[in-house]
Amino acid sequence: MDNCIFCKIAAKQIPASVVYEDDELLAFKDINPAAPVHLLVIPKQHIATLSDCTDAQAPLLGKMLALAPQLAAQHGIAVQADAEGERSGGYKTLINAGPDGGQEVYHLHLHVYGGPRPWRGLGT
Ligand code: 5GP
Ligand code: ZN
Repeated sequence: MDNCIFCKIAAKQIPASVVYEDDELLAFKDINPAAPVHLLVIPKQHIATLSDCTDAQAPLLGKMLALAPQLAAQHGIAVQADAEGERSGGYKTLINAGPDGGQEVYHLHLHVYGGPRPWRGLGT
């Protein structure tokens, strides 16, 4: 898609700090991180918004979400449990859809936020 910044990142036409790539997905660091770890997972194929997705995209969406724990482990933000079962660490996943959802870039993306708080503008 012409003039889509994330298509250009997927095509390596503009640089990004890529942390994961396969034939369908790309993950890279957000240029303006709202948390100590802030990654974006995108499909390489242009899909403008979650609202354009149907059951046909369910496997792709599942793959995007299932990548989050792998990325979290690689970036030190996995959910941990000690011997007593007390949990620590962890991360937030988010997809903004449309203006009221706060979407600014119209190429589907999953945010993965983590690391020590405070985080900017994300509530709890
Ligand atoms: P949205 O508000 O659409 O859910 O999130 C868009 C995100 O993309 C924002 O967090 C913003 O910082 C990030 N972003 C926008 N342009 C670029 C870019 O050129 N490179 C990277 N790495 N992130 C970008
Ligand atoms: Zn695109």
